[in-house]
Amino acid sequence: MSDSAKSRAATLAHLRSADFAKGDPIPLPLTMASIFHAPGDATGFNQYGRFSNPTWHAVEHALGHLEDAQCIIFPSGMAAISAALFALVKSGDCILLPSDGYHTTRALAERFLKPLGVAYDVRPTASMLDGGFAGYRAVFVESPSNPRLDICDITAVAKAVHAEGGILIVDNTTMTPFGQRPLDLGADIVVSADTKAINGHSDVLFGHVASRDPDIITRVKDWRETAGGIPGPFEAWLVHRGLETLEVRFDRMCSSAETIARRLKDHRAVSGLRFPGLAGDASHNLARAQMQRFGFLISFELASEKEAEAFIDNCALIESATSFGGVHTSAERRSKRGDDVPPGFVRLAIGCEPVEELWKAIEASLDKIAG
Ligand SMILES: *Cc1c(COP(=O)(O)O)cnc(C)c1O
Repeated sequence: MSDSAKSRAATLAHLRSADFAKGDPIPLPLTMASIFHAPGDATGFNQYGRFSNPTWHAVEHALGHLEDAQCIIFPSGMAAISAALFALVKSGDCILLPSDGYHTTRALAERFLKPLGVAYDVRPTASMLDGGFAGYRAVFVESPSNPRLDICDITAVAKAVHAEGGILIVDNTTMTPFGQRPLDLGADIVVSADTKAINGHSDVLFGHVASRDPDIITRVKDWRETAGGIPGPFEAWLVHRGLETLEVRFDRMCSSAETIARRLKDHRAVSGLRFPGLAGDASHNLARAQMQRFGFLISFELASEKEAEAFIDNCALIESATSFGGVHTSAERRSKRGDDVPPGFVRLAIGCEPVEELWKAIEASLDKIAG
């Protein structure tokens, strides 16, 4: 970790202390309220639960501290992505999306933006720079892409998009602010599904939009207040609690993934393994240049659908589940979710288990299918 990342991690747990009065609780209080005492002028304090909430403020402060930007929170990752797009594009605009990113983002464009007159194109993450960005109001990238873990040069994309007068939005869900810092690389907006590693306990859906451009933040906040898709205070409180251990969890997950990817690659049952942290991976050189960590997702192929299902089912330390970023290691055969991958393609999401125990369980399950 860089010194600034270490300093952000160290001070995260103490952000609220400057405002403490004697007798205040050290942990964050949960404020469940739709209305607040509101005499006189209607500015400068909490008034109504769709506009603001003290528990939200604490989460936005903590996320803003990590992103080094202003943050607006949402009740899911898709709510954050929708807010960024609906607040900033209009009829007649065209946007560019990754063909190999999270599929619901493309569904949003196809089913809801297109009928309103917003056109979209798609392009693979690995060749995002090919063809340029003329005519795009917004370019949306996800790097590493999910589930194949291709990456694109975020600095170069940001420069080229800005030269054409567009804005760059980066979905940083898989990396978190501790793994990759798209705003530092020139992106205008980060969107994140905090449902995943940021909350980290698989018990809440949540999301955020981060930007250093005050006009963008004003638009996105206005969208939330007006459209009304707001996070529940209790969910926000849980995410605040998750954030307090993010650095420890993410460090463990990424370190374990590096160990397990190296060993998996050498196993006779495994082919086509992708992990940006492995020397020789198509993403490696660029990953070293633009990412702080290599993440905790690994993808690979087993011989067939049957073998992939058996590998997941027979492993005592892998949960069969969609999604990722929780304390439990989980895996999924992605073709069953409609990703354009072979039937035996597995996405493995490393959790927080001790790495040698986890590897023993993974190896035992692979040995069983390899015979
Ligand atoms: C899960 C995910 C989303 C959507 O998040 P939800 O909280 O499920 O709405 C968006 N982008 C990526 C990369 C994701 O993994």
